Amino acid sequence: MKLHEYQGKELFGEAGLPVPRGEVASTPEQAAAIAERLGGRVVIKAQVHVGGRGKAGGVKLATGADEARDVASRILGMDIKGLRVEKVLVEPALDIAKEYYAAILPDRASQRLVLMLSSVGGVDIEDVAHSTPEKIVRVALDPLIGAADFAVLQAMYDAGFDEARHRDLGRVLKGLYAVAVDKDCGLAEINPLVITGDGQVVVADAKVDIDDNALYRHPELEKYRAESFDDEMDRHAAEQGLTYVYLGGEVGVIGNGAGLVMTTLDVVAASGQKAANFLDIGGGAQADQVRRALGMVLSDPHVKGVIFNIFGGITRADVVAEGMLEGARTLEITVPVVVRLAGTQEEAGRALLQGSQFIPVESVQEAARTIKELIAKGA
Ligand code: GDP
Ligand code: MN
Repeated sequence: MKLHEYQGKELFGEAGLPVPRGEVASTPEQAAAIAERLGGRVVIKAQVHVGGRGKAGGVKLATGADEARDVASRILGMDIKGLRVEKVLVEPALDIAKEYYAAILPDRASQRLVLMLSSVGGVDIEDVAHSTPEKIVRVALDPLIGAADFAVLQAMYDAGFDEARHRDLGRVLKGLYAVAVDKDCGLAEINPLVITGDGQVVVADAKVDIDDNALYRHPELEKYRAESFDDEMDRHAAEQGLTYVYLGGEVGVIGNGAGLVMTTLDVVAASGQKAANFLDIGGGAQADQVRRALGMVLSDPHVKGVIFNIFGGITRADVVAEGMLEGARTLEITVPVVVRLAGTQEEAGRALLQGSQFIPVESVQEAARTIKELIAKGA
């Protein structure tokens, strides 16, 4: 379960980390009122589950209630990487002198939580890993000892953190570790961890992901669940028994069975394209569900083509075909849709689709190739 920045900061704050005293607004009026209360310059930040909000124009400064209202009205409702901004966080603006990166995350290889630090903060850590990998320090923490002083100190030296601030920074890192363990985090990240002009250490951003398998032992996190869906579509899908994950690309993917859908995503990626989503219609899907799945994928404005990959087992290929035809009747399908139908009742399914706008293919590889050609043609 991904948390919004303001929720992550709430957890960090409860653990004693230095977070700015901000408040959340869902209207420009509320943002203005918060700015008024805080006084001085404020930073207004889009609350969506993606990084790079700053670059996308979702983090802006404002002074006074009027400007805050104005800025908030521009950020609220904004589309950031396909996600609609419903809320903004309003905080006192920071006078940033240094930006560091800090995170705790589980590491498969060492089977431990790893402390990851970099003195290059405020930018995408993937970019740092790509261009200057030597600037990222990783220390696997012994679970029996935890974030011991010596381990944290060594990591800070290696990362080149300002030695005059080691004490405060170390406290933050130990607190971060405590949150990661207490809340079963798959990721607890601060980017940037800021040192201000007057030498204060401040948690300027928070990215927290809670391990879904551990949620049962965190009733205190239940309140975050309502907003944990990446967007309305995820929630919408879950209500209909569909598993949808927004991925941001152009090729819509629908299949039955998580493994089959993931394989399809791999083949799409291997063909040099980006998938728009993961959508599993589940085993034994009814025609109605297929139609809804198609509608859901097509409602993503980034989708330029769709791949159906169905392996008939419990799900009958002819029933899926009926759902697709039903979709074609009720939805306005303006993008190419390729279909691979195999397994139970595949002949019947293919026969049903004959003469329709759905384009039959024999394999998932052919599906990826065909959809690429069709998208390129602007079909
Ligand atoms: P992200 O782009 O989604 O990771 O959002 P961040 O919260 O990290 O903000 C992006 C950038 O905004 C930061 O790296 C800062 O460099 C910059 N920024 C400028 N002024 C402020 C401020 O007062 N507070 C915060 N949090 N960030 C600021
Ligand atoms: Mn950030």
